[in-house]
Amino acid sequence: MNTNEDVTLSRQQESCKQCGQCCVNGGAALHGPDLGLIQSGRIPQSNLITLRKGEMAHNPVVGKVQPLEQELVKLKGTGKQWNCCYFDIGSTGCSLYEHRPLACRVLQCWDPEKILDMVNRDTLTRRDIIGEDDPLWPLIVEHDGTFPCPDFLSLPDLAAGEPNVSKQDLQNIVNGDLRFRDKVSKEHSLKVSDELFYFGRPLFQLLQPFGIRVSESPFGLELHWPREIKLP
Ligand code: SF4
Ligand code: SF4
Repeated sequence: MNTNEDVTLSRQQESCKQCGQCCVNGGAALHGPDLGLIQSGRIPQSNLITLRKGEMAHNPVVGKVQPLEQELVKLKGTGKQWNCCYFDIGSTGCSLYEHRPLACRVLQCWDPEKILDMVNRDTLTRRDIIGEDDPLWPLIVEHDGTFPCPDFLSLPDLAAGEPNVSKQDLQNIVNGDLRFRDKVSKEHSLKVSDELFYFGRPLFQLLQPFGIRVSESPFGLELHWPREIKLP
């Protein structure tokens, strides 16, 4: 969900015009009261994506893109614009409207105080959703410990330096992340849509917005660094 910060505010506006602008560029983050929607199957796990701790995300409270201090589980986006998967662009309507998550109910783009108050509060995590008894839980813990998000804020310094151990380390982690996903997906018959919930987006994808390209080599992915990286 594109929280109000990117939505043009109108001082005169006093109610929702159902323009759908808050449903583009990503679905809503889920909160405690939304757990029942997942447990009842109204929102299947395959429609969720995890943003792991450390991933860069827009913080509407400070109006900046920053590393996340805690993980978030969000409704998945679709298409180039990454519209919320429940957003019907033809009718600019929500196909989940009667059962939409709390953040969607609270959002009033013309009066953002309540939604801003919810940011990073009582947000759902993977553990809340699947519980520690799920056979995949230990693998989530292992994945987070072995292949954490890199320090994205240090990427400009890394890019400015010559090829070095840190760059090679990052490449190794990127490849390790992919191998881990591949192995677990085969062993547990996970689809890509499940994988995005259990392990978030692959690290190589998270590097692409910084201009770090990848190519395939016989040894796995190779990272190609731009001369300069500017933080968003
Ligand atoms: S809250 Fe209503 S008026 Fe505001 S952006 Fe969302 S759909 Fe449009
Ligand atoms: S669930 Fe509905 S209201 Fe909420 S972001 Fe998606 S399309 Fe918009």
